Amino acid sequence: MIGYAPSIQRLINALARLPGIGEKTATRLAMHILNSSTDEAENLAHSIIGVKKSIQFCSICFNLSDSDPCSICASSDRRTDEVCVVEEVNDLMALERSGFKGRYHVLHGALSPLQGIGPNDIRINELVERVKDGPVNEVILATNPNTQGEATALYISRLLKPLGAKITRIAFGIPMGGDLEYVDEVTMLRSIEGRREI
Ligand code: ZN
Repeated sequence: MIGYAPSIQRLINALARLPGIGEKTATRLAMHILNSSTDEAENLAHSIIGVKKSIQFCSICFNLSDSDPCSICASSDRRTDEVCVVEEVNDLMALERSGFKGRYHVLHGALSPLQGIGPNDIRINELVERVKDGPVNEVILATNPNTQGEATALYISRLLKPLGAKITRIAFGIPMGGDLEYVDEVTMLRSIEGRREI
């Protein structure tokens, strides 16, 4: 059987290595690129190379950025004494959309002993140093509400509490527009625990 020309097959293989892209989708994308103009294809190729060349970690919060410090750490309109700890840059983006006006610390992962990810594999030591250097009044732990995220939040709170900063955990509960009847037991329990006076 004769397959695709080697250069097409190479593109399909490269695309198929991307997360969530199977062989079929990779083939469809490769065909789309093949049918697009040379300008469009060059633009795509340059964007991929550009992101690898210009993006670096912010040396303060470990956000991915074109500059160091990143635009969030460099901004004078943000509360500098409030640090929100997230697992990934995508989580930071989600919090940004909510209008949060403090600063961030991106861990780039969560503790997971089963997968061999320990405290030295994510940016925990850098967070501790940052809180020591201060002034940080509040550290908001916004790791994910799953086993790894909870373990990471607990571990960090134990490390930071002796340093005197207020440590808080984001509330987990019923989504807006949700219906109590369909909420699972764990979420229901967390929302009762996280209740507040109105
Ligand atoms: Zn930053």
